[in-house]
Amino acid sequence: MIRITDILDRVSAYYPEADLGLVERAYVYSARVHDGQVRLSGEPYLSHPLEVAGLLTELKLDTVSLAAGLLHDVVEDTCATAEELTEMFGPQVAHIVEGVTKLSSLSFRSSEARQAESIRKMILAMADDIRVVLIKLCDRLHNMRTLQFQREDKQIKIAQETLDIYAPIANRLGIYWMKNELEDTSFLYLYPQEYREIANQMDRKREKQQEFIDTIKEIIREKMTDAHLNCEIQGRHKHFYGIYQKMIVQQVSFEDVYDILGFRIIIDTVQQCYEVLGVLHSIWKPIAKRFKDYIGIPKPNMYQSLHTTVIGPFGERVEIQIRTREMDRVARDGIAAHWQYKEGQTSDKNDGQVFAWLRKLVEEQKHVKDPDEFMEAVRIELFPDEVYVFTPQGDVLTLPRGATPVDFAYAIHSEVGNQCMGAKVDGRIAPLKYELKTGERVEITTSSNHRPSKDWLSFVRTAKARSRIRQIIKAEERKQSLALGREMCEKAFRKHHLSLNKLLKSGEIQKAGQERGYKTAEDLIAGVGYGKVTPLQVVRYFLPQSESKEPKESIVGKLKERIRGKKPKSGILVKGVDDILVRFGKCCNPLPGDPVVGYITRGQGITVHRTTCAHALNMDAARQIELEWSPEKDDLYPVRIHVLCNDKIGLLASITAALSEAEANILDASVSTRADCRSDCYFTITVSGAQQLEMIMRSVNKIKYVIKVSRIAA
Ligand code: MN
Repeated sequence: MIRITDILDRVSAYYPEADLGLVERAYVYSARVHDGQVRLSGEPYLSHPLEVAGLLTELKLDTVSLAAGLLHDVVEDTCATAEELTEMFGPQVAHIVEGVTKLSSLSFRSSEARQAESIRKMILAMADDIRVVLIKLCDRLHNMRTLQFQREDKQIKIAQETLDIYAPIANRLGIYWMKNELEDTSFLYLYPQEYREIANQMDRKREKQQEFIDTIKEIIREKMTDAHLNCEIQGRHKHFYGIYQKMIVQQVSFEDVYDILGFRIIIDTVQQCYEVLGVLHSIWKPIAKRFKDYIGIPKPNMYQSLHTTVIGPFGERVEIQIRTREMDRVARDGIAAHWQYKEGQTSDKNDGQVFAWLRKLVEEQKHVKDPDEFMEAVRIELFPDEVYVFTPQGDVLTLPRGATPVDFAYAIHSEVGNQCMGAKVDGRIAPLKYELKTGERVEITTSSNHRPSKDWLSFVRTAKARSRIRQIIKAEERKQSLALGREMCEKAFRKHHLSLNKLLKSGEIQKAGQERGYKTAEDLIAGVGYGKVTPLQVVRYFLPQSESKEPKESIVGKLKERIRGKKPKSGILVKGVDDILVRFGKCCNPLPGDPVVGYITRGQGITVHRTTCAHALNMDAARQIELEWSPEKDDLYPVRIHVLCNDKIGLLASITAALSEAEANILDASVSTRADCRSDCYFTITVSGAQQLEMIMRSVNKIKYVIKVSRIAA
């Protein structure tokens, strides 16, 4: 078990001016609150945060990270609180610990491949400080190193998660040694047999391979010395999981996996890197496709090196990487290399540096050809245009920022969206237009007879939700029109001793429709329901010329019949006419309670007028239709009133007070003063009906100095 003094020594070595006090205090606190807790290995619990801090020193991280590493489990596993941490160690440490705790509390259902990418993005999005992710990775690495103490089912679950989620994150952050170790350990637990096979083969070949490594190294050294290039040469085995993947992908046996061995040449300057490359290519034939210049064009995570594969002295492929010391440091520690202390810098400066670096990456990303790289993950943090939320089963869904539970429902399944009635977010009831946030768990309540509402269109963010809602609303409207149109047509046809059904079957209705520009018979009948065509117009097609001059009365009679029989629908006032086209006359603005009369227009449904309206008086009597207001109504209707009064200070205030006391909303008001010291006030107010309007007019009339109140048509 690593000791705190080792950690402090390491920090002082790479950052002499470090504030060791912070790390020591964190250690003392962690030791106190974890006191008595034991790991599955039997070791005191404290060994875990210590090892995590130790790994963080390998990444050469700052003291804030180390303190947070020592404290990373205290909020979750002890009685310590975030407030206490803030008070004792400052907001930065507390914030990072909180971030790590939040990540630990996420439970992913499975790490299916299709989910893995979303989960990785979610983790990166939730960690608003990259140090949170680095600590989480070290935490996972130590847990993997001690996985043998876990139960077998847990071993598999943790290993799978590590392989699918954490190793790729380490890879994207460019911390390759960590990625390799995470992969190899996961591999050991998930595919023990395959792991052992590869290990055995490696063992068997080890001696031969070492010989091979030494020979190659010797040749390189000789040639480099001749060229006056003073470099360091490393030979290494590929990691097991890498070999295994090659065997799977290339479908070859262990024997046939080339480049199991790799070489690395480290030298001082960039110039020398290219010189080394030149020398190598002059002794061994390079494989053209395998040469990559990541110095000229760095990887998005800033990785730089020259990669080449050559045909070696024994006809085997040899993979060689060439880079400078600085590039090697970045390659080893990845993003952490940019976070590490540089002498004489405060952590604040470091902070700015890393984020400047991230921003630079974003800019450079535009020029990078391979989008499937680290940048995609970091981008979401800098340009937060996505949210990641959980299904009740623990799946992660990616939605655009601003998405609502309705978008979520449609993302799960169109039917879930269509039947969506309500939502719970993290167990609490939330409005359907609630804006979802990353990490929230969303649950949708459905009901099989629930239908989407038109006003969902005003807040949904996804194209899928939008188009599905429109589709449903259209279909519903059509269904209603179709049913109504069919009923109307049937009656009209019966009256003329014709059978609608027969004509439908024979295709003649369709013909009639096509003549009017309707594609199908259904379209035509729906058109009748919408009020675009009258049933008579349809019937006429099947009547001899003379008979087609049907008296208008009868069609009107049918409509009347139809309307009386219909039950009122909410929101629509005139009995039953909601599914044919109803319009209120602009000339007289009828209110519920007003005596009204309907006028059946040609193909445009019914226009409603007050009986006193000049238009109504001029109507063709045969096309008039009696209407009644529906008894249950709670809609509000605009109406305009005119108040003639003496021009007195404060009078306008009294009138508006009277209006609001009578519960009328004022939509619009205007006042003009006449030469004779009288004023004309105009108000547009909303009322529920004629009765309320009458009451309002009476109370305004009672106000002193008001001369006359009248309702005006428009
Ligand atoms: Mn831990």
